[in-house]
Amino acid sequence: MWRFFVILKPESKRGTTLHNRTRFLGRTLAAAGTVAALGLALAVPASADTPSTVEQDVAQLTQDVNDLYAGLPASALKNVDPLIESPIPQTGRQSRAAQGPIPGCTEGSLLTYANNLASKLTPLENEAMGVLSGLSSLYTQGVATDKTPQVFGTDGQYTPRATATIAKLRGFWDIESWNVQLVAWKGTDLGSQAKMAQTFSLGLAPARVQAAAALATKVLYEVPALQGGRNPLLTLNAFSAPADSLGGKRVALGDGLLDVVNTLGFDDVSVESVVGHEYGHQVDFAHDNYPRNESSEMGPDAYGGYFVAHAKGDAWDARAQQEATYLDASIGDCFHSHGTPDQRKAAGAWGEKQATSQGNPNRIVPSATMIANFQKEYPKLMPPAAAQG
Ligand SMILES: [Zn+2]
Repeated sequence: MWRFFVILKPESKRGTTLHNRTRFLGRTLAAAGTVAALGLALAVPASADTPSTVEQDVAQLTQDVNDLYAGLPASALKNVDPLIESPIPQTGRQSRAAQGPIPGCTEGSLLTYANNLASKLTPLENEAMGVLSGLSSLYTQGVATDKTPQVFGTDGQYTPRATATIAKLRGFWDIESWNVQLVAWKGTDLGSQAKMAQTFSLGLAPARVQAAAALATKVLYEVPALQGGRNPLLTLNAFSAPADSLGGKRVALGDGLLDVVNTLGFDDVSVESVVGHEYGHQVDFAHDNYPRNESSEMGPDAYGGYFVAHAKGDAWDARAQQEATYLDASIGDCFHSHGTPDQRKAAGAWGEKQATSQGNPNRIVPSATMIANFQKEYPKLMPPAAAQG
């Protein structure tokens, strides 16, 4: 039956094969002894006939996801803060790197590693990666909920640490915390047509939702580089979202980020440092603190450092504290975006020192005080060259 649909498509461009196939059809119909079959076949909608190419599928999916983002409420992505500039330009997400690179700055090792992974993709793979990464981040932000058990890491290996960390953070900082969700950002969610339909429903015309969801899962498996959702580039990030954004207050932790941080040797501090940083954005959100400079990223580095070093936080020893500052440095960039490696390292170390040098190790500085203290310190943490750059 499949051949019937192919050759009867009126706008078929397969002119060279049409003749032979028509002859084939003619014989088949004659054998079937019915003209009714022809009418039946002609009634099949055009979309059900010619198999599309991978290129066509990716192009259509890009259109669908762009339209989805365009259909979101205006405040959906406002102040939603990713941990790093994604090495793959995510469909629907804006880059903050507005200026050229800072002279003399070397980007962090995690960014170098991620950019190297991305550079090996073909243009088609790159587009598919960006569009599906944008789609999965929107699922994580707008559909996923921690009311269902969250699984962190590709094999759930980080779930206990993530669960313990968010519980500790909720008790640590004096902000409204019960409704800050911690959700897993998983590329494998792209394989669920039901989850993708929920995601497209956030902004795409209802009549297009099911086809778009089916196409997303189709592309996930027809581009082998995507590894069925397990390529770390799909989820190589984490983000924090404020109350009035789509999905409300939440921290999302990407499986791909945890994979790559592990590869780079920071596994034993990854979950606590990253969730501690992202929760630091919640501290800023709670106080309406939205600085328009690198302190918007360095502040959460500092609050996270304070948390992991503090007796009532993770109470890490000097060795682990140092490792955490190197992880901070590894995600530094050179684009006046999220802070340079040196700046981020300095901010994390400053936060740790606030914990280890205070008279009463069990006292937790009120979050408003911590913000004010950091804003006072921040100009000193800017290396002179970078401050002028
Ligand atoms: Zn951040």
